[in-house]
Order: sequence, then structure tokens, then C-alpha cells
Amino acid sequence: MRSLLRKNIANLKPYSCARNDFTGQAEVYLDANENWRDFVGNTGRNRYPDPVCSLLRRALDEVMGLPFEHTVVGNGSDELIDNLFRCFCNPGQDSVLLMPPTYGAYRVFADINDVQVKTVPLDAEFALDFPALEQFLQEEKAERTETSRCKLLFICSPNNPSGNAFPLSQIERVCKLFDGITVVDEAYFDFSPFESAVSLLDKYPNLVVLRTLSKCWALANARIGIGVASKEICAVLNSMKYPYNVGGPSQDLALQALMHREDVQAGLQGISEERKRMGQELGLVACIERVFASHANFYLVRVSDALKLYHYLAQLGIIVRNRSKELHCENCLRITIGSREENDKLLSALHSYKD
Ligand SMILES: *Cc1c(COP(=O)(O)O)cnc(C)c1O
Repeated sequence: MRSLLRKNIANLKPYSCARNDFTGQAEVYLDANENWRDFVGNTGRNRYPDPVCSLLRRALDEVMGLPFEHTVVGNGSDELIDNLFRCFCNPGQDSVLLMPPTYGAYRVFADINDVQVKTVPLDAEFALDFPALEQFLQEEKAERTETSRCKLLFICSPNNPSGNAFPLSQIERVCKLFDGITVVDEAYFDFSPFESAVSLLDKYPNLVVLRTLSKCWALANARIGIGVASKEICAVLNSMKYPYNVGGPSQDLALQALMHREDVQAGLQGISEERKRMGQELGLVACIERVFASHANFYLVRVSDALKLYHYLAQLGIIVRNRSKELHCENCLRITIGSREENDKLLSALHSYKD
């Protein structure tokens, strides 16, 4: 792993903030230039938050079984994706591998960090294309130089926007084939019947798994992303991030959510039932040509004219996502599973649509 790091990150002397220097309990805190007053009430909002989300990570350990030293908390998983680029990819030199169609943020962060994007597309049924992947990796190995190589490979499972998850055996096959950092984005893991790639961490030290509280845990507003990886990778990611990257209110909200895991579990059950119902119902809608299989909380559907249907729904106050410009997604809309009432509104609008 260390040989994959950028030199400046490997040699980094991290910023040491007041809350790092002293972590015990004291009576008088005059170390961080905070205001002694708490205008919001006695909520501690005048104080800097825990820089490394210790309480939250203990809760993640207890509730999700993600060991404390194997986690890093980001301001959404988006921050962790950006930080992976900043740790491993030399701007203007290194490259990353994406498998489109997939989450758009990977490419945007690659562009921001001036990192070249290479692609091995999924096939038209959104399955991993192993022959193409093997060929790409072989050629990449032959072409790499001292200063430039493919550092990161992103797999999103369940994949956004297609909705399908990849079996763990296939994820493991990718880990075996790739000698850089394999990043498995499990933002929709909770909705999927497939096993998590976290179980592969012992065997593959260059694996990073991303989770988030934005989807199943209903905390998109709080911005809590979780990176799960080897102790070494987590130590690096914890040392190079913004010192106070996750605000105190967000850490508190995340802790509260984790304490209500039964409610979350019950909500998940409801979403799974609605997913099943919507899968059947969407299949009966005349203007929908195909409903792609989903292990997430959304469906990708193919229609005859996606833009026209998008505008029709929008004018009725129903917003879905037009994914038509993505590879293999011609005339496809991505539809989130909402409440039963919301889903019924969508269905009745779809049934009254004249193509
Ligand atoms: C929604 C989503 C995320 C979550 O991002 P956050 O920054 O944690 O809200 C990550 N990856 C994928 C593929 C997503 O669809």
C-alpha cells in the first residue's frame, strides 16, 4: 500500500489540532481559541467537534461490526472518494479505472484532481466484463512507468444507476486481478441480499469499502460517509482529511440513528416490500419497456422517450432522474422507491401518460 501512496502523503506530518493534542477530560479549556459562551444553549456548539469521530466509530463497531481502527468517517462518502484521489493519484500522471455506467462523482473527482479516467464498461446487462478487464489490466501493467500507473479501481455494488449488485465472488476476482487500490462503493449495501466486501478486507489489504448513512439510514442531510479498510489505509485517510471534517451536530445525529437500528430495520423492510410491489407495478405500465433488476432503493426503467416522460412527470410535480446520457442507459429513467403514497402517485401518473 505504501508504494501506491503519493510521496507527499507518505511523508506527511499531519496538522495537529487542539483536540488531537489533548483528549482527556479537563475543567478549563483554553486551548482552541473557542468562545467560552454557548449561545445555542448548553449544547457544546461553541466547542470544536471530535476530529476523528471516536464515539461514532465505536458505535459503528458495535452496530455494524466495523472495527474502530478499520474506519474513517467522511463528510459524506463523496469526501472519502476525493481523499482517495488525493492520497494515491499524482495529478497529471496517474489514472483510475471506472466501469460505466456508474456513479458520476468518481469522474468528477478524477477531473478535479487532474487524474486520467480509463474505462472498462459493464456489458449491456450491467454485468462486469471480465475478459475486457483482464485485457485492460494486462496492457496497463505493460505500459506503466515509474511515475504513472492506474492507482484506483472503482466498483459500485449495488451499482448506481443500474441497481444491480455484483456477487462477492466477482468482487473478490477483481481484487485478485488488480494490484492497485480496489474501492467498492456499497452506498446501497443495506438494500441488497449480497454479502459485503468488508469480509474480504483480511485477505486483500488494498481494498477500501465505502458505506454511507445517506440512504438506508435516512441521514443524507447530515453528510456521514464511512470508509472501511486496513488499519494502515485508515490511518493515512484519518491523517490527511480536514481536521474537523464532520460537524458535531452531524456526529450526534449519526449516533442517534445508530441507536435506533430497529426502526431503520423496520423501514428497510418497508422499502423492500415497496420495491417488490413497484417492480411488478412498473412492469404493467404501458410506456415502460423494461424494468431492470434492482438490489437498491431505486429502479432503472427503459421507456420509448425518456425526456418526454421526464417532462410530463415533472409538470405533475413528480421528479425522477433522467439517465439517458449514460452508457447503455438510452431512454432510461431512474426512479427512487418512495413512500407507498408517493409511489401510487407516480403509478397513476404513468398510467395516464399517452406516449
Ligand atoms: C448516494 C451515493 C453515495 C452517497 O454519497 P454521500 O456523499 O455519502 O451522501 C455514494 N455512492 C453512491 C454510488 C451513491 O449513489
